[in-house]
Amino acid sequence: MKELSVTSRVRNEMIDITESVSRAVADAPVEAGFCVVFVPHTTAAVTINENADPDVPRDLLAKLASVYPQEDHYHHSEGNSDAHLKAALVGPSVVIPLREGRLALGRWQGIFFCEFDGPRRRQVWIQVR
Ligand code: ZN
Repeated sequence: MKELSVTSRVRNEMIDITESVSRAVADAPVEAGFCVVFVPHTTAAVTINENADPDVPRDLLAKLASVYPQEDHYHHSEGNSDAHLKAALVGPSVVIPLREGRLALGRWQGIFFCEFDGPRRRQVWIQVR
């Protein structure tokens, strides 16, 4: 398993990690199989979406913020319930098929690490099988 380090700079941010994941896959001796990208955090997530137009992640973060505002009548005393809710919705992992030893992503697809309680230094685990 490969471990990737991601540093977020603001509280909510989508960081394109496609290149880093591609490099991890290129190092693995697997031609056909799967790549699992897993985020071992409860206030961050990972998703696949369009990485051509930066307005797509921008809209996604804006809509998540309107659905889960930072201040609401939450019970969790740490003050980051919005981040937990966003992470639950987006999810901790994605699976990407491999074709000829490379990520088989669609033309407009990129892999995004989603920070919801930054800035922080985070981990992403990558397993190729
Ligand atoms: Zn918390």
